[in-house]
Amino acid sequence: MDPAGRPQERYARLARYSGLADILPAWQASACAVIGLGGLGSALAPQLARLGVRSLRLLDRDIVSQENLGHQQLYTESDAALALPKAIAAAQALSAVNSQPKLQPRVEELSRHNIRTLLDGCTLLFDGLDNYYTRLLVNDYAHAAGRPWFYAGVVSGELSVRAVIPGHSGCLRCLVDVPPAPGSIPTCSSAGVFPPLLQLAALLQLELAGRWLRFSDGQAGGAAAWPDLIFGFDMQSLRLRSLPAPRRPDCPVCTAPPGEGRYDFLDGVFDERAASACDGLRQQLQLGRALNLGRLAEMLAASGGFELRHSPFSLSAARGSLRYTLFPEGRIVLEGSDSPQELNRFVDTYLGG
Ligand SMILES: [Zn+2]
Repeated sequence: MDPAGRPQERYARLARYSGLADILPAWQASACAVIGLGGLGSALAPQLARLGVRSLRLLDRDIVSQENLGHQQLYTESDAALALPKAIAAAQALSAVNSQPKLQPRVEELSRHNIRTLLDGCTLLFDGLDNYYTRLLVNDYAHAAGRPWFYAGVVSGELSVRAVIPGHSGCLRCLVDVPPAPGSIPTCSSAGVFPPLLQLAALLQLELAGRWLRFSDGQAGGAAAWPDLIFGFDMQSLRLRSLPAPRRPDCPVCTAPPGEGRYDFLDGVFDERAASACDGLRQQLQLGRALNLGRLAEMLAASGGFELRHSPFSLSAARGSLRYTLFPEGRIVLEGSDSPQELNRFVDTYLGG
């Protein structure tokens, strides 16, 4: 047993690998957050659990659906049948992998209002997101709070990965100043993804995080600069590339010391409606009151026309190409339409306005 009471035999192979041996204690002392539990988060979270990190915060706003099962390895058919929130399903799966990390599922939409609470106490932040608005918000938070985060984007057959280390590297805002307009860039929804590529992205994120743990440990006496690189891979050429990624001289986020930059996304300078615009055919509403999902399920079943999936954590009601997902705290998500009227009509008809 180690001082924290962990049995060591399960980590013996990890400790024998020279690239992990010296930093395994640092990994096991870390409080990690996986932000977004889709394909990328599904690849990251099990590895972090197996490393035996101290705690693992699991953030996602969505429920498991059939279309996730092809590339999101954490989830099962029964998770989809029960319409379990991804954070809950992930915590259930990971608790069977390793009971030592403290698992902290959060079924919430990350926003500038709750990001400080949702990421509080996390020492390493991992990007499992699928939109640039939220990534730029995380980028702001990471610099405001002085937390390293590990960006990854995987679409179709390409990936890019970068460690964003406040005070030591450039950042995402150096690369992307404002979120791309909806439809202007390919997404996993529009262009699909080759699932094993998600594992390669997770590998690079985890390796960079390990290198940061080693680098930060040696900071006291060392004057070495963090090697600030962007990694890319594309399936056509089968080549992994690394490119120097210097700071953009006018970047408002990373050219100032951590905590002293201009954080437009955290401060709400960018309209939050941009966040939903990034999502394309997705609308969200917060009713501001709790919902009794059991009673609503009965009522929607009686009204007919909906395909329902119900768990203690969510209620999904599909009709044609539209899917409404209701959460107990009063959040409603409509997928399949970008018309606010469509969502308002559902609320007026079934939830009493
Ligand atoms: Zn920057």
